[in-house]
Amino acid sequence: MNFNEYPIDSLMYITNRPEIVFTHGKGSWIYDNNGKRYLDFIQGWAVNSLGHCNDGMIEALNSQAKLLINPSPAFYNEPMAKLAGLLTQHSCFDKVFFANSGAEANEGAIKLARKWGKKFKDGAFEIITFDHSFHGRTLATMSASGKPGWDTIYSPQVPGFPKADLNDIASVEKLINAKTVAVMLEPIQGEGGVIPATREFMQQLRELTKKHNLLLIVDEVQSGCGRAGTLFAYQLSGIEPDIMTLGKGIGGGVPLAALLSKVEIAVFEAGDQGGTYNGNPLMTAVGYSVISQLTAPGILEGVRARGEYLRAKLLELSEERGFKGERGEGLLRALLLGKDIGNQIVEKARQMQPDGVLLNAARPNLLRFMPALNVTTEEIDQMLAMLRSVLDSL
Ligand SMILES: *Cc1c(COP(=O)(O)O)cnc(C)c1O
Repeated sequence: MNFNEYPIDSLMYITNRPEIVFTHGKGSWIYDNNGKRYLDFIQGWAVNSLGHCNDGMIEALNSQAKLLINPSPAFYNEPMAKLAGLLTQHSCFDKVFFANSGAEANEGAIKLARKWGKKFKDGAFEIITFDHSFHGRTLATMSASGKPGWDTIYSPQVPGFPKADLNDIASVEKLINAKTVAVMLEPIQGEGGVIPATREFMQQLRELTKKHNLLLIVDEVQSGCGRAGTLFAYQLSGIEPDIMTLGKGIGGGVPLAALLSKVEIAVFEAGDQGGTYNGNPLMTAVGYSVISQLTAPGILEGVRARGEYLRAKLLELSEERGFKGERGEGLLRALLLGKDIGNQIVEKARQMQPDGVLLNAARPNLLRFMPALNVTTEEIDQMLAMLRSVLDSL
């Protein structure tokens, strides 16, 4: 169908979108209304962990849709229990609450920490978060985020989120007072430009929070579910947080998120937390398929191997073009361009003929890569060849 035939004007404006309509996808490729195909290194914003329209997910959706779609969150259902069991089996956490988006999971984490503070820490409620962090788009998670400008768009903010600097333990220590209940961070800042917290910093944070009886919350909405080459990014630093949130990759593309905690932190009482769609069997059945596939033998080793491959190739490209190197973990990586040409590259890459490539500039001076976790080395080579030809044309 021609672009002008779609009732695009009925959609509320929220951002600038190109004049194409995506119609279908498979694996690392996505197709638009003109039949043009694109090699997808965005994957729904690090969401489609198994690529577009993964067979196992389709099978889970189809078979669950015929069985039960929503009995209400007031009752147990089978996929909800099975997915919770799988997540506790493969993590250091004991309890799981399902949500529908990363922001909602983080709201849950904030509520759980505040509830724990009321119960065990004399009403302490402040959660130390970090500059350039991203935790979602609800009012509380925007307030928790350290994204420039977000303190004023919908002011007044939700109070209680002082900001420290990532990888600077003294900046965290300075903010601790009697009202502090937790420290919350992304083990790898995603939207901030793929900035990993160092292993040393994660260990210092764990030590500091233990010393002051504070909760350590990791927002693994982007870094979790295999993206960093381990099932969860906190596992890279050899520590155990108290609370973790998951989103994006856990659903492989469908709206699913989760809040996990250690048993002694799970202090919600009846009625404290809930939500109409939370833990519905349709989405949790898909999540079960995704996490089962990611934890199958050899899969995460493959993610690490292709992460290393992408790393080496990006470094090669950086040397060749005089860029500033690369950073990241697993298949969440950034190429540091050293100048603000990111958005220009993204535009040209999408408009390439005959095939386009979907890239993202999380910041104007870098490109972020978040391909499907089952991307092949051939597809990585294809992406790099296309990127080189875009760079040649600048
Ligand atoms: C995307 C993201 C969120 C928000 O998730 P939504 O599903 O968009 O609400 C929260 N935290 C991190 C680290 C993210 O990358």
